[in-house]
Amino acid sequence: MLYIVPTPIGNLEDITLRALRILKEVPVVLAEDTRTSRKLLDHYGISTHLRAFHAHNEHAVVERIADELASGTDMALISDAGTPGISDPGFLLVRACVRRGLQVSCLPGPTAFVPALVASGLPCDTFHYEGFLPHKKGRQTRLKYLASLPHTFVLYESPFRLLKCLDELIAHCGPDRQACVARELSKMYEEVKTATLSELKAHFSEKEVKGEIVVVVGA
Ligand code: SAM
Repeated sequence: MLYIVPTPIGNLEDITLRALRILKEVPVVLAEDTRTSRKLLDHYGISTHLRAFHAHNEHAVVERIADELASGTDMALISDAGTPGISDPGFLLVRACVRRGLQVSCLPGPTAFVPALVASGLPCDTFHYEGFLPHKKGRQTRLKYLASLPHTFVLYESPFRLLKCLDELIAHCGPDRQACVARELSKMYEEVKTATLSELKAHFSEKEVKGEIVVVVGA
């Protein structure tokens, strides 16, 4: 069995009892950054062996890991924060397992876009998850497509690019489109601000933007 185990996106209380049990019970935990994850596991008193599994080696190691799973070794996959596979490594390994008929179980748990979307107050019955936009090539094409969607969409953005991103969203969606910037979710300085794109630009231009960010844009 391959267990996909979501880990906290900030607040260390946000991990399920089942996630902790599985991380304790499996012989190997695949982790994006073993140093970051060692700290996390130490916090919960878990001493399971950690093995590196990240964007730079996932292509090379996926089939070998699938062989080990096929031979009967259970493993858990975690990322630095949130749910593996959601703007994080995981998809290639899950696909390899599914193709081979190996069992995969993804535990429900933390991910940044769900609390951002729900707390935004923007329609969340139908939505599009975009994740990170490409930095250069294809960015404008993607923005044009997103602006034309008939429902809410969700972006992940770095604090350094937030103002540029808001400018681009204003250019493509218009200044009066309702949107939300959700910052530092589950952490001490959590901020969820819903307003028009131009109001958000004005608000976040006032001081240096810090922390992790989800942008939600209404239709
Ligand atoms: N796998 C993660 C998930 O399930 O959400 C996403 C990992 S992605 C590499 C990291 C991005 O997620 C950040 O740049 C930010 O856009 C978003 N994010 C992660 N934690 C966050 C938080 N506490 N508050 C707001 N956004 C967060």
